[in-house]
Amino acid sequence: MTRSIIRAADWTLGPETGRGAPEAIFSALCLSCGDESQPTGEDRLPAEIWALKHTGRNPAHRQFKATAETFWRVTPAEGNPYRESDAQGA
Ligand SMILES: [Zn+2]
Repeated sequence: MTRSIIRAADWTLGPETGRGAPEAIFSALCLSCGDESQPTGEDRLPAEIWALKHTGRNPAHRQFKATAETFWRVTPAEGNPYRESDAQGA
């Protein structure tokens, strides 16, 4: 029997919203040849256009792995002593 204990009450997990942090980084990988788009932040459109153009140049290459990397931050929850020290800029 597997037993898991997850203790998360003192910390909360959410998206990274710090200055300069992208909401996501998008890229596309051709599953036929392994060619990959340049990763782009915030906007998935360049990866989509890359895939369409890639198939245009290689009509047999029609399957892609689309990746969206996102960023998380864990912050101290109410009652966690780190919450106070973070608030003081420590
Ligand atoms: Zn390809």
